[in-house]
Amino acid sequence: MSSRRKFLTDCGVLAGSAGFSYMTIGKHDWNEYTKKPAKSSGLSLRFKPYELHLKHVFTIAEGSRSTTPVMLTELEFDNIIGYGEASMPPYLGESHETATSFLNKVDLTQFESPFLMEDILAYVDQLVPGNYAAKASVDIALHDLVGKLMKQPWYKIWGLNPDKTPNTSFTIGIDKPEVVKAKVREAAPYRILKVKLGHGNDKEMIEAVRSETDKPICVDINQGWTDRKMALDMSFWLKEKGAVFIEQPMSKTSTDDTAWLTQNSPLPIIADEAFQTISDFKKVQGVYSGINIKLMKCGGLRTAFIMIKMARALDMKVMIGCMTETSCAVTAAAQLSPLVDWADLDGNLLIDNDVFKGILIRDGKISLPETSGIGISKNKT
Ligand code: MG
Repeated sequence: MSSRRKFLTDCGVLAGSAGFSYMTIGKHDWNEYTKKPAKSSGLSLRFKPYELHLKHVFTIAEGSRSTTPVMLTELEFDNIIGYGEASMPPYLGESHETATSFLNKVDLTQFESPFLMEDILAYVDQLVPGNYAAKASVDIALHDLVGKLMKQPWYKIWGLNPDKTPNTSFTIGIDKPEVVKAKVREAAPYRILKVKLGHGNDKEMIEAVRSETDKPICVDINQGWTDRKMALDMSFWLKEKGAVFIEQPMSKTSTDDTAWLTQNSPLPIIADEAFQTISDFKKVQGVYSGINIKLMKCGGLRTAFIMIKMARALDMKVMIGCMTETSCAVTAAAQLSPLVDWADLDGNLLIDNDVFKGILIRDGKISLPETSGIGISKNKT
């Protein structure tokens, strides 16, 4: 038995099933709960590991991969189920093992009502430091559950205008020119492209894109540039090539060089790796023009909403992004998209084994479903 399978068997994930059973954290196990949906049973949390398959091997400045581990969560109350997800690309340090360990600590049966969202999520947040993706999986499931109980999608609960959703970008990974051109053709329905750079072939990548389309592009360097003068020269060249912003050009620790670049660059400089959650505002204010918010970095919708308001108070640009995720987490993030400048919510389009249906992209623009909660329904399996 592989060590991973042994781990999953030991913690009960694979017990008695074909690998598709949820673990139950609550007063009742899943079978008992289905037989006795008592109103007094409180909140019941279940979770299961899942692995997303990427349509293309994905290469960024930090490396390549073809799968992403995720944890799918379900939060049940009064026979209504809210869905959540933790997506855990390896470089963030979370895994099926760490998420299982964290979620085993979460005991929501102490809360009488899911409407106590502030109490519940503050409790989840203080359990253990870090574990932001695992925390997001509870936060998203709770938002989905509460929205369903209120029979409204979250953009309506927040009072947001669905006509103000932005276009979403489609990501083109680092590759040979022929492959880049093919991906640009594949991205025909999108009005803006996000091009990954920072692997030493930046101009070749951009020229390949420009041989196919004159759509606006944004570029994500993933900390790949090391020299600030070269970074500034590239920012002017990229502006001429129709770029609208540059994401994480240099190392997240290169604070002085990045501040200098932001002051002198004709394009906004956006923090991604340098900005995880609320406490990082101190580090990025005055250093970057804006931030890339991702639910998996910050712990979910509750924190993301606060951070958008904080960024606006600090006169910073806001982008909302994602990891490779199912439509669950992507659609949850999209509920906030009427508030942001740019959205990069294509994570569900990069996989071939989505388990949910959610946002649609119409003529490149995010279209929010009327579905209550975070706006998703489960795919038939
Ligand atoms: Mg990025």
